[in-house]
Amino acid sequence: MISAVLPTYNRAPLAFTHGQGSWLFAEDGSRYLDLGSGIAVNALGHAHPALVDTLTQQAGKLWHVSNVYRIPEQERLAEMLVEKTFADTVFFTNSGTETAELAIKMARKYWYEKGQPDRTEIITFEGAFHGRSTGAIAAAGSEKMTKGFGPLLPGFRHLKWADHDAIRAAITSQTCAVMIEPIQGEGGIRPVPDQCLKGLRDLCDSTGTLLIFDEVQCGMGRTGKLFAHEWAGISPDIMMVAKGIGGGFPIGAVLATEEAASGMVAGTHGSTYGGNPLGCAVAARVTEIVSDPAFLDAVSAKSAQFRQGLEGLVANHPTVFEAVRGQGLILGLKCVVPNTDVVKAGYARHLLTVAAADNVLRLLPALNIPEADITEALRRLDAAATDLETPSFEAQP
Ligand SMILES: *Cc1c(COP(=O)(O)O)cnc(C)c1O
Repeated sequence: MISAVLPTYNRAPLAFTHGQGSWLFAEDGSRYLDLGSGIAVNALGHAHPALVDTLTQQAGKLWHVSNVYRIPEQERLAEMLVEKTFADTVFFTNSGTETAELAIKMARKYWYEKGQPDRTEIITFEGAFHGRSTGAIAAAGSEKMTKGFGPLLPGFRHLKWADHDAIRAAITSQTCAVMIEPIQGEGGIRPVPDQCLKGLRDLCDSTGTLLIFDEVQCGMGRTGKLFAHEWAGISPDIMMVAKGIGGGFPIGAVLATEEAASGMVAGTHGSTYGGNPLGCAVAARVTEIVSDPAFLDAVSAKSAQFRQGLEGLVANHPTVFEAVRGQGLILGLKCVVPNTDVVKAGYARHLLTVAAADNVLRLLPALNIPEADITEALRRLDAAATDLETPSFEAQP
């Protein structure tokens, strides 16, 4: 018999009652060290006092009014993001996949208004993940996500991951935009080298193609800069943001230059919940905290500590781990054994990690994880790896 909850997930047999910082407390009272952060969502850990305070204060005032009216909390958040990024304008959504939908619409509308209505093709990449809406699965294009859901939204051209020559060859007079994650998350923590991002920007500039960055997972301070592309010293025309920006409250945003957004006039897009006062108040608090240069420097320092320990684990457990990947606190361990076995061995050691494609174990701790918790995480990863090296060990489901 089908479960009351639609069974689209293979869930671990774990449930939590509350959280505190980098720790989650299970129904039996035991605690787990959280290196998943709800897939890079709980950027400031669980129950951060400033966010609890902001949320409860706003909850007592106003939750929702509709975009029929001005929403000062939304305006304030948009102004903050405009001030801190390349963007001139922002649209708020409730999730990452909705940002993909708007990015696609915005890019196509841009060329339509420029008198090139056939310029609709968007270049995307193997291993990409942009969400689960029909547009987003068509954009990413993997069989795993699209099989059985056709006919798919047309107009995407899927290329090998970050292959500059292939991109150069693929851009034609029909190309509307290139959509890429500066660091692939679901795809296995694969950073596009800065040189490639620069090359991509040049290629887009010389052909007029719009450049869309999906920073839903790698943005909001995760790399030690507010957005990952800042490391390359270039910026996109359109950027998708979600996950970390709400610190656990569901909210996303599409940031764009005035030029790229020029086709999106009144009536061309909307969302009932998007940009509601509750979400915007929380996201503004997250943005304030995360964009502080001292906070971002601390992310880089934590990353250095974590990475050094992870390199040690790779050296000490060559039959379990192969290499460290990623940047800042979006890190991956390429595994030798199945990554799902490592995730399960982690559960036994009360450590929460997330699997990604390419047999990678994803490590996405809270950006404010204390040094001591990183040390403890490394200890538990070491113990889990030792368990996996023990012939009699069997990972529990
Ligand atoms: C998670 C994710 C999305 C989709 O976000 P949802 O909120 O799950 O719709 C899109 N792009 C990237 C890079 C993501 O990691």
